[in-house]
Amino acid sequence: MQPLKSKLPSGDTTIFTVMSAFAREHNAINLSQGFPDYDCPDDLKSLVHHYLDDEKNQYAPMPGLPALRQVIAQKVNQSYGCNMNEDNVVVTAGATQALFTMITAFVHEGDEVIVFEPAYDSYVPSILLAGGSPVIYEMIAPDFNIDWDHVSSLISDRTRMIIINSPHNPTGTILSHKDLLALQSIAIDHDLLVLSDEVYEHLVYDELQHESVLRYPDLIERSMSVFSFGKTFHSTGWKMGYIVGSEHLMQEFIKVHQWNVFCVNSFLQYALADYLKEEKNYNYLPQFYQHKRDQLREGLEGCNLEALPCRGTYFQLYNYSRINKMDDLAFAKWMTAEIGVASIPISVFYSSKRQDTLIRLCFAKQASTLAAAIQKLINI
Ligand code: GLN
Repeated sequence: MQPLKSKLPSGDTTIFTVMSAFAREHNAINLSQGFPDYDCPDDLKSLVHHYLDDEKNQYAPMPGLPALRQVIAQKVNQSYGCNMNEDNVVVTAGATQALFTMITAFVHEGDEVIVFEPAYDSYVPSILLAGGSPVIYEMIAPDFNIDWDHVSSLISDRTRMIIINSPHNPTGTILSHKDLLALQSIAIDHDLLVLSDEVYEHLVYDELQHESVLRYPDLIERSMSVFSFGKTFHSTGWKMGYIVGSEHLMQEFIKVHQWNVFCVNSFLQYALADYLKEEKNYNYLPQFYQHKRDQLREGLEGCNLEALPCRGTYFQLYNYSRINKMDDLAFAKWMTAEIGVASIPISVFYSSKRQDTLIRLCFAKQASTLAAAIQKLINI
C-alpha cells in the first residue's frame, strides 16, 4: 500500500488526554482536564432513568426533540432578550460536534477564519479539515485584551468567519459590551459569519454579565452560538450540547448535521427537556463556581504561583515564573510528578507555542479536592 497522506499530519494528541493520563500514572490530583469530580444532579439522573425505562430508546428527530428545542429557545429568549423558536435550535453531540459541523458547513476551500489564541484546541484542526486557513490573533497575558483595529487589519477578501469564545477557555477572561459592539461592526462591514462558543455562559463571576451574541439583534443573522449541557449540568461524559442561530444559517447547518450524526441520544433529550424548564437548575451556577474559584485563589494567596484575573469559566491561570523558567509543558509534568497536582500548560493553545510561564488549574472540584491541592501547592 502507498504511504497514507494524512489530513492532520501533526497528529498531536490533545493535551487533555496527555495530562489526565500523566496524572493517573503519578497518582496526582487532576486539575488538568476540565471536568467536575462531583456527579450531575440526582433529579436529572432520575429523569434519565425514567425515560430510559419509558422506552425512549430509538432515533430522535434529526435536529433534536421538539420539546427540548422549545425549552432551549425559551431559555435563550429569557436570558438574552432574543426571539428564537425551535427552528433556531439543533441539539448536538456536545459543543464539539456543533463547532465541527458549523465549520464544515460554512468554511470552503481557501476561506480564512479568524481565531483568537490561546484557543480551545478543536477549532484549528476543524478549520484545516474543511480546507480553510486559520488566521491567528494572539491575545497576550495577563489581560488577553483584543485590539479590534488589529483584528480588522487581519481581514482579507477571503475571510469568511470569526470564532469567539466567551467566557474564555483557557484564560478565564470574558468579552465586554464594547468588544461585542466592535465585533458587530467588523462582522457587518466585512460580511463575516460569527461562530460564538458560549459553553461557559453560566460561569461568570463578580456580578458581571455574559455577553452572548444573542443579545445583539444585528449580529444574530450572521451568528451561531454553541452551548454544552456538559458544563451546565456537570455531565461532560454525556456529550450533549446545542447550537442556536438564525434560521437561514440553521438550514445549512442541518444539511451537514444530517450526514454527520443524523441525530443524538434520545432518552437524554427527554430528560434534559424536563430539567431545563426550571431556572433554579442552572441559575445557582455563578455563585457555586465563584465560591470554588475563591477557595482556590485564597488558598494559594502568597504562594509562588501568581494568579491571573479570572472572571469566568472553571479555569484559573497561574504564572510560575517565580519558581523557575522551564517551558510550560515541562513545568506541568514536573508539578504532576513531583508535587502531585496536574495542570494544563498554556502554550499548547497557541499555534506559535508561545511560552509565557503559564499553567491552567481547573476548579470544578469538591472543596476537599481543592483543599488537598492547595496543601500540596502552597509551599511550591
Ligand atoms: N474542555 C475541557 C478542557 O478544556 C476538556 C475537553 C476535552 O477533554 N476534550 O479541559
